[in-house]
This record gives sequence, C-alpha cells and structure tokens, in this order.
Amino acid sequence: MKQLESTARLIKLDPDVHEMLKNPKRVLIVSLPVKMDHGKVQVFQGFRVQFNDARGPFKGGIRYHPKVTLDEVKALATWMTWKCSVVDIPYGGAKGGVVCDPKNMSLSEKERVTRRYTAMIADFIGPYRDVPAPDVYTDSQTMSWILDTYSQIKGYQVPECVTGKPIALGGSEGRNNSTARGCVICAREAAKQLKIPLKGATAAIQGYGNAGSWSAVFLRELGVKVEAVSDSRGAIYSKIGLDPAKTQKHKDKTGSVVGLGGTEQIEPEEILELDVDILIPAALENAITARNASRVRAKIIAEAANGPATPEADEILERNKVLVVPDILANAGGVTVSYLEWVQNLNREHWSEDQVNAQLEQKMVAAFNACYETSRKYDVSLRSGALALSITRVADAIKMLGIWP
Ligand code: NAD
Repeated sequence: MKQLESTARLIKLDPDVHEMLKNPKRVLIVSLPVKMDHGKVQVFQGFRVQFNDARGPFKGGIRYHPKVTLDEVKALATWMTWKCSVVDIPYGGAKGGVVCDPKNMSLSEKERVTRRYTAMIADFIGPYRDVPAPDVYTDSQTMSWILDTYSQIKGYQVPECVTGKPIALGGSEGRNNSTARGCVICAREAAKQLKIPLKGATAAIQGYGNAGSWSAVFLRELGVKVEAVSDSRGAIYSKIGLDPAKTQKHKDKTGSVVGLGGTEQIEPEEILELDVDILIPAALENAITARNASRVRAKIIAEAANGPATPEADEILERNKVLVVPDILANAGGVTVSYLEWVQNLNREHWSEDQVNAQLEQKMVAAFNACYETSRKYDVSLRSGALALSITRVADAIKMLGIWP
C-alpha cells in the first residue's frame, strides 16, 4: 500500500482509480474439512484473493505454509497484479494460500487438502476467470490434482485452468528454469545500460535452489564468472569462478554447496558484500537491510527472490548508485512462461523449448526497456519506474473499461 501511495503521487493517479486499487476485488475464505491419515477430521483454512482483473483473468500462485495469513495473501495478490502488468501479459493478479504444515503431512493428506480446496474455490477460478499456479510448498503434482478436481466438476478435461503442470498434462517446455532465465536477461540488459562488458564480469548468488542454480548456468553462458554462491548451510568462494554443473553435482550428493573442491568457505553475509559486478539474491526476503546495504559493492542487483531488499536498504542502494532490477521485473520470467503455457493449452499446442525461450526473451527485454524508460521519464529508481509503468497500465485499463459513470 505504501508503494501504491508513492507511485500514485508520482504518476498523478486518478483519485477514483487509486481508491479502487486500495482493496482487492474479491476475497474468498474457505474452511476445508479433511480426513487425516489417523482417521480424524482436521479443518484447514484457505484463502483466494483476487486483487484486480482489469487487464485479464486473475493469475497467481497457491502457497501451503503454517504462517499463511490473509494479509500476506492480499499483499502477494497485489504484487502479482503489478508483475503481470510490468511484463505486459494479459492477466490480473491473485494469490491463494492454505494454512497447513506440508512438511508434516503425507502425500495423500496433501492431495485431499488440495482437492477440497479446489472444490471450494471452483466457482471462482477457471481459464478465463482465475488461473492458479504453484508457489511455496506447492508444485506440479499439486497443479495436477487441481486440474483433475476442476475437470471432474466441469465434466471434461480443462488443462488451461492451471499452469505449472507437468509436461505430460500440458505443462510448458522451459517453465522449470524460466525465472532464472528472465532474471539473467534483466541482469544482461542492466549491464548494457551501465556499459559493463559481460565477458569477464563477476557475480555472486545468494541461494542455490531453482532460481539461484539456473541463474549461475545462464550467467556462465554469457561469459560471467560466478565467484561465490550460498545456500542455507553456508557460502563458498572461488577467485577463478565456479562451474555450475560441478556445484550442482556436489549439492545433489551432499545436500549443500559447502565443501565443493577448489573453493573456500566464507561467512554467509559476505556473499552480499563481495566486490562483484552482479549480485543475485535468490533466497529469502529482507536479506539486504539498512544494516548491510552500505557494504554492498555490486554494481547491479537482479532480485530473483521476492522482496530481498527492505525499503530502507533500497534508499541506501539508490544513493550508492547500485542499479537494482526490482523483483516484480527480475523474477517475472516464471509468470511469463506460465502465460505461454496457458496460450499453448487454449490453442491445444505444444511449443518447442526454443520457441518458448524466444518469446520469453522478447517479453523480458521489452519489459526491461519500458521500465528503464519510465524510470528515466520520472527521474526515479528502476523499482519506482517499474511500479509507475505497471500501475499506469492497470489504471488505464480500469479507466477504459469505464467502471463508474
Ligand atoms: P528454492 O527452495 O528452490 O531455493 C531456495 C534456496 O535458498 C535454497 O538453496 C536454500 O538452501 C537457500 N536458502 C535458504 N535460506 C538461505 C539463507 N539464509 N542464506 C542463503 N541461502 C538460503 O526456491 P526458488 O524457487 O529458487 O525461489 C527462491 C526465491 O525466488 C524465493 O524468494 C521465491 O519466492 C523467488 N521466486 C521464485 C520463482 C520460481 O519460479 N522458482 C518465481 C518467482 C520468485
């Protein structure tokens, strides 16, 4: 809401539209009675928040976590609206969540929760209404159960009702590493603006999961030397650069990047403070704060993670002329390929990975350039520029729909 306030002032947002954008369009709270493996019923609480659909069907992930709250889901639904708008895909924004502890649930308990949740929100989702996707602790298996439950209710197979499905059920090639691919495209475009040649440039990556490890692969393909990476167990450094394939192999074998031959272990916080050209935070929110932001020496930060820098850190980074590619742009590769999956499903097509990647490339470059130009126009940071662009697009759609007299 703070981001909306400051952007509204910047773009002189129509006060009526501003008022509309202060609240989600629809909030659904459901109770899910589920028979657990021990034979007793447990009632879970679930949410689906549909923030805005002026630009197209609602779109957003579903997360399973013991700490899911309605406020969090509302905030995430708002960000999804800006994210889809920033990459100019015809979607609005939504988010869902179930308060549960997936780490302590069996596969069949998770299946029953998912099927009941889907049945309870079935009237409010659908290919032209609201298209869910995976998020924290939900995956392609979860999406398959949603697809099956929704299709049973409709009486026919509706693959386009969710994205992030397995390939066998209409999932898209390239979805698996699309977030990292989009993030590295943004880092590359940022380097172009700063006139930093990528061949021989250096990078550090916090987090070596899906987004982090694939970012390492794509950076290396561009000739960038990835000097340091970290995961929840620690951080490693190599002056000559790490080989992403060897690093992944070591992590698969030992459960961590720590201990990889030819590297030295460094303190986990050091990863954010190394003298590198590109820093990719790909782990948790609030990694860069007022406490450590002034020690960041990277010239470019591409936010693969959601919210890795606090607003206070952001001000310091801006003062120190670090070019921050904000999360709503830097990690939008995932939702962009989700959109491409939906388009393939609607047309009953299956594209090659090259076709998918070519479209992703084109959309990410266009989005980066549009955000960059907007930040220049208003003389603000790239984050403020991205918000200004996305909120302007949503506002224009609302106005053109002519919702009020
Ligand atoms: P993941 O679970 O695959 O990987 C997370 C990684 O972070 C793991 O390697 C873990 O060990 C590491 N980690 C956890 N705590 C850490 C710590 N304190 N210090 C260093 N590393 C730590 O998750 P992911 O899918 O790669 O997502 C990472 C971030 O990117 C999240 O913020 C997520 O919301 C965001 N994101 C991911 C996608 C996607 O498609 N994967 C899309 C949009 C945003």
